[in-house]
Amino acid sequence: MKRNILLNPGPATTSQSVKEAQVVPDICPREKEFGDLMQEVALGLTRVVADEKEYDTVLFGGSGTAAVEAVLSSVVPPTGTVFVVNNGAYGNRMCEILDAYHISYVEMKSSPFEPLDLQKLDTLLAEHKEHFHITHLAVIHSETTSGLLNDVAAIGEIARRHEIELIVDAMSSYGAIPIRMNEMGITYLVSSSNKNLQGMAGISFVVANKKALLATAELPKRNYYLHLYSQYIYLKEHNQLRFTPPVQTFYALRQALRELEEETVLGRYQRYTANWETLLEGLYSLQLTTLVDRDCQSHIITTIAYPDRAGFDFDEMHDYLYERGYTIYPGKVSDTATFRIANIGDLKPSDIKGFLGALKEYLESL
Ligand SMILES: *Cc1c(COP(=O)(O)O)cnc(C)c1O
Repeated sequence: MKRNILLNPGPATTSQSVKEAQVVPDICPREKEFGDLMQEVALGLTRVVADEKEYDTVLFGGSGTAAVEAVLSSVVPPTGTVFVVNNGAYGNRMCEILDAYHISYVEMKSSPFEPLDLQKLDTLLAEHKEHFHITHLAVIHSETTSGLLNDVAAIGEIARRHEIELIVDAMSSYGAIPIRMNEMGITYLVSSSNKNLQGMAGISFVVANKKALLATAELPKRNYYLHLYSQYIYLKEHNQLRFTPPVQTFYALRQALRELEEETVLGRYQRYTANWETLLEGLYSLQLTTLVDRDCQSHIITTIAYPDRAGFDFDEMHDYLYERGYTIYPGKVSDTATFRIANIGDLKPSDIKGFLGALKEYLESL
């Protein structure tokens, strides 16, 4: 099979074995065998970030946003308010979800290119607590729009001190950046199958503190399909998902989890970091500039300013690279014109070097 190099921030490049794992005999997902597979996957997903005695994973068919929406819509009591840290398009998306459900929230805006002011977060939380019943703090771990990494451990410490639950969108950090939910004070963590897990698109999940999750059973429901507790308890009690799961994607995810267990999260982090260092070195040697300080980058995705060259055109560059098997991605939040390169997936530094060679050719063709 042709091997495309995806440098977009997910779905990421998958291994041949993950692709092949999807080709299985047809099976009804209500069969015990398939229920067992989903429970195995849920357990594996929990273990990547937490101890299964205290945490469990809720699975949904859907892209990552489905699980973000499931948590935000299902865990906040009617009188509660969410404090959202918004430092990029994904933080903004959490606000849009809360708006859609008419759930009360306050927002702390911060630049997607500069580290979050933790002192200010602490002060703002204290201030808002005087006017609102703040029950949750919601934050993005790796803000994929810029490549900025929020210091979740420090944020978790603040949440703990204020006695509020922490919701983390770890879509583009899970599987690549070591996370321990308990130590970091995280109650709910969200991710999906197709980023650093290197599986196929179609499954999103929430790793939840069991005690907190069970306590949400009593809350009035705001929705049906994405209701977190209902989805959780149904799989536990019936060994099935409530609705048709993406069957073949689950087989691929089981394989992807096995490959992650073999490589380990730390090993994957080191490989991604080697990819990222190769990328930065190459970009700088082409006189390109990046937007986030090296120290607070996630090592997962890099925002790059458009080169200052006559004749440069992003779409032309995209097409030039695409024809050569490299898929790149436009920028998302910035006043400056940017594009982004993700270095996740089943990629090695040699793949990044191949990309840099093609990029150099394009720039020289201008
Ligand atoms: C990719 C991503 C999402 C979810 O995107 P989907 O297109 O719904 O899979 C959410 N948050 C972050 C930080 C992401 O990187």
